[in-house]
Amino acid sequence: MRDVLCHECGKTIAERDDLYTYLSMSGIHGLCSDCYMSNQKTLNGVRTPINSQATVFVMIVAIIACALLFMKYRSLVWIIIALFTPVIRFLSWVLIERKLKY
Ligand SMILES: [Zn+2]
Repeated sequence: MRDVLCHECGKTIAERDDLYTYLSMSGIHGLCSDCYMSNQKTLNGVRTPINSQATVFVMIVAIIACALLFMKYRSLVWIIIALFTPVIRFLSWVLIERKLKY
């Protein structure tokens, strides 16, 4: 099994508690907690980690909102928008998180 490395400092991340995944233009990357905390202090750090409770909340709200909009407008665009967050969350798990134990 391949190690999960921090995208910024290159440190090996051993536990899921120490991992923060985020989406950027170049893909989904993992950060160690030290780099994530130092990023939070800069303007660069306004991103919400994919593997956080906030993302699950956004996912649930987006699915409910898109389901209501789909029922009203009958457009597949709402289904595609509703699937965006779950797909990103799934990719984060497949590409990075599943390599680590809890
Ligand atoms: Zn790091």
